[in-house]
Amino acid sequence: MTTTRPLTALRAARLFDGERLVDDPLVVLDGGHVMAVGAAVPGVEVTDLGDVTVLPGLVDTHVHLGFDASPDPVGALAARSPDGVRAAMTAAALASLRCGVTTVRDLGDRDYLSLDLRDTPGLPTIVAAGPPITTPGGHCHFLGGAVESTAAAVRAAVRERVARGCDVVKVMASGGTLTPGTHQHLPQFGAEELRAIVDEAHRHGLPVTAHAHASAAIAAALAAGVDGIEHASFWSADGVDDRPDLLAEIVARQVVVGATVGMVPVEGMAPPAAVMARVPTIIATLRRLVGDGALVVAATDAGVGPPKPHSPLPHAVGQLVTIGMPPLDALRTVTSVAAGVCGLASRKGRLAPGFDADLVVVGGDPCTDPAALRDVRAVYVGGRIVA
Ligand SMILES: [Zn+2]
Repeated sequence: MTTTRPLTALRAARLFDGERLVDDPLVVLDGGHVMAVGAAVPGVEVTDLGDVTVLPGLVDTHVHLGFDASPDPVGALAARSPDGVRAAMTAAALASLRCGVTTVRDLGDRDYLSLDLRDTPGLPTIVAAGPPITTPGGHCHFLGGAVESTAAAVRAAVRERVARGCDVVKVMASGGTLTPGTHQHLPQFGAEELRAIVDEAHRHGLPVTAHAHASAAIAAALAAGVDGIEHASFWSADGVDDRPDLLAEIVARQVVVGATVGMVPVEGMAPPAAVMARVPTIIATLRRLVGDGALVVAATDAGVGPPKPHSPLPHAVGQLVTIGMPPLDALRTVTSVAAGVCGLASRKGRLAPGFDADLVVVGGDPCTDPAALRDVRAVYVGGRIVA
């Protein structure tokens, strides 16, 4: 084979291609794309990286580049000018890259700023929702996505996102921790409005994912036909109400469950008491969903507080394993499966001919020790070393 283009061939001790471990751990890059995996290309010099593992760049299905992971991310965002927000989002995106995260789905920005960042060279690939659709005064209303709770208003909100070029529609179907005056156990929007959002988005080819803590909100979102549910913590007023019928429906329809895993331990910081009281049941529910074959992905919510820096995703893999996911499945979850959820199944999350040359090189073996993912040695985006 003859070629005039410079090729890069990397050999590692192990290579995970997004689906399985490859017998001959060798990947050949042709500029920005993967050319070959598991077989040498004649005439191309091979660089041996030693006792490391090469994986596809990691994919986080739920981040907020606009939140700075400080103790008061909402206040910090409010204090920033549009240029200041852009700079902070760029810094967050670069920090994610250094953790091996080469694709992020931003599920809530201010003023659609994540859309502008999508074309910035040297940043991760960004899949953008823009401001989440929420009720007046509802969860994250300060991001600018509040609309009246009527079918006409929510349809108009979806059409605005289509017109601006959003990749996905995010709706706040319940209250959330960040927003005083809202409550995790109470739904936002009625069944009719949620159905209108899904109908309008699907009509324009966009998926819908719903932030839903409340059991009642999860029920309404499922009835409306959403593609994904973020958090899925099944909050009730006094605990957790993980209705078996809803769990069964999530599994049967393979609705994406964005599990809020990936938490960096922070000394002296514990979640609020109301969260702590529910965590054991929330984990048990997640374990059950995984065991029953639900489509669970790591949706870290990066940015919303100190345990969620950009990026906590490398911590998520070990947590998925502790809730019963086999290690290779956990690695698939943060690569090929997450890429599919982001609508990028043909370009991202795998090392296979024709896929984008987004790679992370880590020390050790994440198949036997998920902590190895935190030992990042190199990150490639489009065939170029960026970290
Ligand atoms: Zn979020």
